[in-house]
Amino acid sequence: MTSPAIHPCFLGPYGENDTLLEKLVVEFLRDHVYWRRNFHPEDPPAIPTGAAGEPAFRDFEARMRRELHALSASLKRSVPFHSPRYIGHMVSDLLLPGLAAQFLTLPYNPNNVSIDAAPVTIDLELKVGLQLARMFGFVDDPARPDCAFGHLTSGGTLANFQALRLALALKAFPVALRAAAPPGLALPVDDEAAFNLTPSATVALLEAWNGWLAQQTPAERRHWRRALAARRLETLGLADFLARHPTLRSPRVLAPVTAHYSWSKGMKLMGLGRAQLELVPERGMRLDPGALEDILERCRRDRQPVLLCVGVLGSTEFGTIDPVDELVAARERWAAQGLGFGVHVDAAWGGYLATLFREPDGSLRKLSDMREEFQDFPAPEVHAAVGALAKVDSITVDPHKLGYIPYGAGAFLCRDQRAMALLAEDADYVFSPGEDGDFFRRYRQLGRYIPEGSKPGAAPAAVYVTHRVLPLDHQNFGALPRESILATGAFRTAATRFAARLAGRLHCSVPFEPDSNLICLALNPAGNRDVATMNRFVRALHERLSYDPRQPLQAREFFGSMTTLRPEILGAEDTARVLASLDLDPATLDAGGEDDDRIVILRHTLMNPFLLDTGNGISYLEMYFEYLERTAAALVATP
Ligand SMILES: *Cc1c(COP(=O)(O)O)cnc(C)c1O
Repeated sequence: MTSPAIHPCFLGPYGENDTLLEKLVVEFLRDHVYWRRNFHPEDPPAIPTGAAGEPAFRDFEARMRRELHALSASLKRSVPFHSPRYIGHMVSDLLLPGLAAQFLTLPYNPNNVSIDAAPVTIDLELKVGLQLARMFGFVDDPARPDCAFGHLTSGGTLANFQALRLALALKAFPVALRAAAPPGLALPVDDEAAFNLTPSATVALLEAWNGWLAQQTPAERRHWRRALAARRLETLGLADFLARHPTLRSPRVLAPVTAHYSWSKGMKLMGLGRAQLELVPERGMRLDPGALEDILERCRRDRQPVLLCVGVLGSTEFGTIDPVDELVAARERWAAQGLGFGVHVDAAWGGYLATLFREPDGSLRKLSDMREEFQDFPAPEVHAAVGALAKVDSITVDPHKLGYIPYGAGAFLCRDQRAMALLAEDADYVFSPGEDGDFFRRYRQLGRYIPEGSKPGAAPAAVYVTHRVLPLDHQNFGALPRESILATGAFRTAATRFAARLAGRLHCSVPFEPDSNLICLALNPAGNRDVATMNRFVRALHERLSYDPRQPLQAREFFGSMTTLRPEILGAEDTARVLASLDLDPATLDAGGEDDDRIVILRHTLMNPFLLDTGNGISYLEMYFEYLERTAAALVATP
């Protein structure tokens, strides 16, 4: 049964909390108007009191109303994300505090590019960075020099770009510093050593350089800053930079096969090239540490530098969680061997699950305490992965996914904010603490550090207020992912019952045990052994679970999504296992026919907070499986 803690959180599937939201919107709209009037009340109204009676005014209003009604009417064809019947993609209802904060902030229209345009919401954005940092176990005390720093982006895609940008800046900085050769500063022995530092080692070097600069005269300081700037990758571009350092090769990014396609986009955008993105094989859709070790061994042998090793916390297609602890251990081990790289975790989807692992005092919750609360969650590996987040170099997380915040709100977090100086747009990558003031002053010109320029202040306001109302620990915000994890357990149990009930008519299996709240189903009509035939069947099933512009919305009982398993990604062992579970003939996979090079499966995102019986005897999950049974039976009858 849904926890009462959830009841005031959302507008609700039926709009149950409509009066609450209406009150808030009206109250703060009025509040905004009073603010306008109180700015120079002596100024007369610019729009005459009688203006609303003018014909042109009435015309305009009529046109506006007509268009708004048209918009409102067409928006009725939107996908019903709010409904517990929607278990498709990574979106659900919106948290009321975030929605109300957005409404409230919109008419002020703050622009978080800089403090001049957003005197209030820039601070909120920086505080959101600290709130998220705490959720992951990073240092969140802005008085500490090694405090984390985070900012919002339009989404996870841009946060991943920022991770690449920062990693590249960190990798190339020591090489440029060697080339500038400030006398008396201890520098790496050669270009390769310089290009193979870990992010932490580079930050230490940056600190040493700042200390060195502080001892120079102002004129010398200027000279050396210019000398460094002229040699940086950011000035020269990758081609010229590498040409000047012939022992270096373009660095590679290692990411799991489940990596989101934003990584491919990012490699292209950075000019690194898609070919430099190497996918690490999986086991059960989790990055295989043994395979990573082999790749790193080869990189060292080939003197192939590695920019980043990416782990995914909640893969987009399967919700699986990579062994982040193993990535961190590999970073330490290989750095000692002269192959330094950063570890970035793409937690765009799963980041907010970390609230379940966090005590209100900020410490990590014990595995045993958590296992008392759930059936099979978290797996010890998942607990170890979340525990290791505190040690990674950077993280992507999407408040607009499991944070239940309106689009677009992604976030990028960097464990040690001192690294951010390397991204600053003017050559102000040199600051010593006293010089640049405190944390909040330093990032006041936020646009200097982020990929975007103008950007909404309303989004950070929404995230900030939400995190204040629901602090990011298991007792508060954790109520939401808790519901979602419980729903996944219930879905898993229901799937087993479904498979047993349909035995003899339909093969049904869960290809990967869920690490979190995304679960897939593979389905094949009994008697069929052909992959292409099964794919046709599942695609037809999926069609009945997706938006159809030709039909009224109400004709759809449920919304789901679909994904595919490709053998080259799945690996031989897992492919054989999945095929066997569906009684498919392996010879029909990739047999040269149409649509037979992959296995099509249904995918379910269980983030709606009202999926479980809410006390009125309705379980949407049970209803879903009944719907699936009916639909599958109809499809088998009339293929
Ligand atoms: C959704 C997602 C992204 C991309 O985020 P957007 O907000 O859609 O830009 C990146 N990585 C993972 C793992 C995701 O789930």
